[in-house]
Amino acid sequence: MIYMAKPQIGDDEKKAVMEVLDSGIIAQGPRVKAFEDDFAVMCGTRHAIATTSGTTALHVALLAHGIGAGDEVITSAFTFIASANSILFVGAKPVFVDIDPRTFNLDPAKIEAAITPKTKAILPVHLYGLACDMDPILKIAEKHGLAVIEDACQSHGAEYKGKKVGSFGTGTFSLYPTKNITSAEGGMITTNDPVIDEKCRVIRQHGMRKRYYHDELGYNFRMTDIHAAIGLAQLKKLEKFNAQRQTNAKFLSEHLKGVTVPHVPEGQTHVFHQYTVRVPGGKRDALRTWLNDHGIGSEVYYPVPIHKQSFYVSDLGYGDVSLPETEFATTEVLSLPVHPALSSADLETIVSTVNEFMEKNA
Ligand SMILES: *Cc1c(COP(=O)(O)O)cnc(C)c1O
Repeated sequence: MIYMAKPQIGDDEKKAVMEVLDSGIIAQGPRVKAFEDDFAVMCGTRHAIATTSGTTALHVALLAHGIGAGDEVITSAFTFIASANSILFVGAKPVFVDIDPRTFNLDPAKIEAAITPKTKAILPVHLYGLACDMDPILKIAEKHGLAVIEDACQSHGAEYKGKKVGSFGTGTFSLYPTKNITSAEGGMITTNDPVIDEKCRVIRQHGMRKRYYHDELGYNFRMTDIHAAIGLAQLKKLEKFNAQRQTNAKFLSEHLKGVTVPHVPEGQTHVFHQYTVRVPGGKRDALRTWLNDHGIGSEVYYPVPIHKQSFYVSDLGYGDVSLPETEFATTEVLSLPVHPALSSADLETIVSTVNEFMEKNA
């Protein structure tokens, strides 16, 4: 079986974990600090704050920006549920804007119509490893005085006009095992703003500035040094992993037939967290079955857009929301294996198996 994801855990990670276990400091300690410092360097930001997951990174970032009950946050419905649920966690309302069908990311031309007096932030999701079109998004945010909180959980190292994602506003990253790098579970927040940095650190640790004095409601979202040790070792390999993903994607895009391959806009670096094609003509699910029968994993990210998830419809009243490009994309997208551990034989098998199906069903 050619799997969709395969965490690349080597001797470096194992040795680093053993060192932590032997050191006597196993919860948040010096490795977390080192991981934060290296992550900030990778992103080109002044600060990075480690958390327990991408979801808690989003949650803390929204709290640090003071977003709460009665506020609205503009985001995409074509994403993993955590992008929008984090907005619910702080008591605010996700307002969904449709995607650009070529990039699967927020369509900047549709954002302004969704802004109301309650809007406090835009939460662009850099889906599949490709940055959103940030220039117009930043312009709109500035014009309306909105915060920008980037969901970069799928885009470690992706660039937009020479700048890394996570450096445009407040960035949030996931370190789940399927992501471009992992710490098993883990998250990271990035920012250039020292005030946001301090708020995130306080919220992460029970609202505590001075030991056992609590000025506000906080949480325990601390990363452990065990996880940070894995993340540190992985971060050193991010560039190599991303380069391999790009090489694999290039091969697929050059050889696949009958499907629409990923679009990479001018001036952007796609890091291919996912390699996602569009399968036209209602053949997506049959192709997926065919691939599975031939030992090739594939996945639909995501089969149900967030505004159509049952509790968004029944409990939250999103039943009337209509996002035609998002809804259509969920019927066509199929992600194929692209991870760095694929062999050239694997890639050839993927291509020949997809092409055989598409030719037979042309
Ligand atoms: C993975 C992911 C998250 C959540 O990250 P976790 O570490 O799983 O909590 C949020 N947003 C997007 C787009 C993701 O892909």
